[in-house]
Amino acid sequence: MLGHKKILAGLHKTMENNNVSHAYIFEGPDGIGKRETALSFAAMLLCERGTERCGECQSCRLFAEGSNPDFQEIYSKDKSIAVDEIRNILKGLVIRPLYSSYKIIIINDADSMTVQAQNALLKSLEEPPPYVVFILTVQSSAAVTQTVRSRCRRILFDKLSEEEILEILRERYGARQPEWDFMISYADGVVGTALELAESPDYLDARNEIMQSVNELLVPGKGDVFKAYELFEKNSDKIEFILKIMLLFFRDIIIYSQTLNYNILINSDKKDMIVENANLKLSCLLKCIDAVWSAKRGLEYNANFQLAIEVMLMKIKDSYVYKDSQVY
Ligand SMILES: [Zn+2]
Repeated sequence: MLGHKKILAGLHKTMENNNVSHAYIFEGPDGIGKRETALSFAAMLLCERGTERCGECQSCRLFAEGSNPDFQEIYSKDKSIAVDEIRNILKGLVIRPLYSSYKIIIINDADSMTVQAQNALLKSLEEPPPYVVFILTVQSSAAVTQTVRSRCRRILFDKLSEEEILEILRERYGARQPEWDFMISYADGVVGTALELAESPDYLDARNEIMQSVNELLVPGKGDVFKAYELFEKNSDKIEFILKIMLLFFRDIIIYSQTLNYNILINSDKKDMIVENANLKLSCLLKCIDAVWSAKRGLEYNANFQLAIEVMLMKIKDSYVYKDSQVY
């Protein structure tokens, strides 16, 4: 179960008070855990033994197998949900639930419903069969028509705390790994981002290689811009991630050189590399950050990839002339 315990506890309470709404909007950024929470809520509603997920009744078992007929889920296809898909779902709603007291429909990315789809849904929201509960997940409820919005109870999903994300990683993967601190900082409260990183070793490999190579560029006479570029080319599909990593790397060097405290580093698993560069002047590090920002902006405006990256790497390499033997 993913975070958002307060929200689930609140939903549980509405069940106990017989105050379950016919429609909910779960609103928050992608990857924050809206669907997982919707599934947990659905499981509570569907259990034949009241408000718990007993895991033993027929309804719970079928739900766990993904074949509970009282539960349906719609996904966005080609970035939109068409009116036909909504109509198909609505047709089945006249049949009463088979196992529990509810029929649950989750509409994922409901903000991508076409206006026609929203209008079709509206009729059911206005006069829903008493056993139906809709859960619409959206990034922004502003993309849902006012009439649909006014029929739904809106629940906002906040970012998770670092401790909550750590707990989720522990639940899934067991013992703490050295790169978790970085993943948690990078995820910035969005648990989906942390899990995506944990499940994509190629991202962590790219991070290791790129940090190593940028670190070499910072040593006079060592790194080679064109060799470094090859790494960027190889990982061009992850360039947004890589540029962000570089900014965080330089950020860490600045933080460490100013505070000598490595407990507040984002890349805490790369402590050695960061300490090694702590004698770089602030002006040198700011030039490096500026170089990364320029490349980032250039690529957003469709600049030539090779040119943008090579210029960035050259600027980073040249920044060492500002290197000083003193800390400041
Ligand atoms: Zn049950």
